[in-house]
Amino acid sequence: VTRGRSQPHQFVLFITYLAQVNQSLVDTEKLLNEPAEVNDKPGASDLTVEDGEIEFDDVTFSYDGRTTALNGVSFKVPKRSSVALVGESGSGKSTILRLLYRFYNIKDGEGRILIYARDIRDVTQASLRKAIGVVPQGRYYSMLASDITSAQAAQMHERILSFPDGYGTKVGERGIRLSGGEKQRVAVARTLLKNPLFYSWTKRHDNRICRRTLVLKDGQIAEQGSHTELLAKGGFFASMWAGQISSAEGCEDRSVETPEI
Ligand code: ADP
Ligand code: MG
Repeated sequence: VTRGRSQPHQFVLFITYLAQVNQSLVDTEKLLNEPAEVNDKPGASDLTVEDGEIEFDDVTFSYDGRTTALNGVSFKVPKRSSVALVGESGSGKSTILRLLYRFYNIKDGEGRILIYARDIRDVTQASLRKAIGVVPQGRYYSMLASDITSAQAAQMHERILSFPDGYGTKVGERGIRLSGGEKQRVAVARTLLKNPLFYSWTKRHDNRICRRTLVLKDGQIAEQGSHTELLAKGGFFASMWAGQISSAEGCEDRSVETPEI
């Protein structure tokens, strides 16, 4: 794939959800349309690409000043890695994304979010938003039952470029027909084209997810580990999982049902 810059610093923040807990789905597209409540600090500078990671450092947040949506949340997303956030509705997943996109500023003394060791309150909103790619989540994307890798997205990108009108090609009844999986790949490819530093997307949680998973409960990270570790722990995640799917077998690939959203 030919792109302007190389992409050495990509993060992937997966937001996953358990199949039957549909309300916990984070609609990132909707999220991005929410108005930002914060303004740039005077003299704020752009976020620039450096070596480093994304870090939530002891973040506590309340929308209304009475109930806590997040309570002392700390985690790191190292370069070229991904973290899956899992949790029931109201556990705080969307809030984590909203704070990362800086729809709200964290109050002094209530933790901080660092990207490349820079407090996001000190960078311009425009540069922060530019750094974040979001794979839009349309109805048909929910047909996705498998992980789309960036390599697959890149293949799709090349195929799109081979169409007469590239990304402007009409799709649908009078145009080129794409399968549900291909539509998802187009969405991922479009996002990668923006060359973001990191991106998030939402997918159904399934046992192929061997990556680090943070389990949120009541605004706190209750458990973390790989899927297998979390199951072995026999705690909250394991009971949530047992409640959804009868035979979970570690990280083996297996067919999963298409989620209804
Ligand atoms: P999730 O995405 O995991 O379903 P949220 O981050 O949306 O959870 O919600 C975390 C907590 O914050 C919940 O108790 C929810 O009721 C509360 N909350 C979410 N959005 C708002 C809001 N705009 N105003 C007040 N409380 C909110
Ligand atoms: Mg949510």
